[in-house]
Amino acid sequence: MSTGHAYIDLPRLDLRRFTSPVQFLPRMSEGLGVEVWAKRDDLGSVGLAGNKVRKLEMELAHAQAQGATHIVTEGSRHSNATRAAAAAAAAIGMKCSLVLCHDEPKEPVGNLLLDALFGADLHLVGDISWVELAEVTAEIVRELEAAGERVHRLPIGSATGRGATSFARAYIEADEQIRAQGATFTTIVHASSAGSTHAGLVLGRALRQHSTRILGVVVADHVYDDVPGSYLRLANEAADLIAPTVRIEASDLELTEDYLGEGYGKPAAGVMEAIDLMARLEGIVVDPVYTAKAVAAVIDMARKGTVEGPVLFWHTGGYHAMFDPSYTAEVWSALPRLRRIQL
Ligand SMILES: *Cc1c(COP(=O)(O)O)cnc(C)c1O
Repeated sequence: MSTGHAYIDLPRLDLRRFTSPVQFLPRMSEGLGVEVWAKRDDLGSVGLAGNKVRKLEMELAHAQAQGATHIVTEGSRHSNATRAAAAAAAAIGMKCSLVLCHDEPKEPVGNLLLDALFGADLHLVGDISWVELAEVTAEIVRELEAAGERVHRLPIGSATGRGATSFARAYIEADEQIRAQGATFTTIVHASSAGSTHAGLVLGRALRQHSTRILGVVVADHVYDDVPGSYLRLANEAADLIAPTVRIEASDLELTEDYLGEGYGKPAAGVMEAIDLMARLEGIVVDPVYTAKAVAAVIDMARKGTVEGPVLFWHTGGYHAMFDPSYTAEVWSALPRLRRIQL
């Protein structure tokens, strides 16, 4: 067993109330010829789970300690981060305002339905860029503060150094879980957008002094002007909080845009096949916006022989997108073709 670095445990709210399992995927492994496991962060007890809940456990513990009354965050109307924030705010009795960069759709389903269901105030601000969205959100924060609210603002994707510390802890959790099953992982593959998942996992690896390959499959373009720089900043802000002697270097990060396809929420080669195989072989749902792109990477790399197993696919959640009509129709129409694909 590696001893690793000691790290500081920050205050955390327990929003999940259980440890998500690490499970072997026997039929995917057999089909791909590479051992594949999954960390099931798609399961949980608040807001239909997903990776944002871990970050919120850290962020909201901090917000509460600071006396915040109101959570404000922004994203797309498909955003899992906004939906998780709305649910977590409901669970702890805080107000929540969400700023979403889409016009009100004819059918408010998927995450938008959930955002409203969890009682958040919704600001649908039209089809604007991420940068403009941040500006509009800042204005809404000013208005709330002027009205006497104590606002805790979460950036897009809840991407903060404090949030990222939850994934350093999660790395250690998953490592212990797989070892308890007599196995180990050589590679972790996960969907990546605002970066605190990747930053945190990389920090967790440093704490354990492991050489695991951690591949972030980029699913969103133009989230930051400088994507690697922003990821690195998140990783080192997280390190400052829990392990000040540890430094993360740019070379510790590994991101690929090979599976981004046409962009965030847009089609990419391999996505429908990933959804189909995970569903048919394992009974697990992956979504077209995030996790299917990560699974598409696993499948593609397994076929090309460019990934070393055992692979841990980190299931970051997000299957609610599947219930949004734009994607439902797309997946449905892809099925007849997919049913003829043999592994
Ligand atoms: C937000 C999200 C990601 C990406 O996480 P980041 O930490 O923002 O990079 C991956 N998968 C799902 C399902 C998500 O909702």
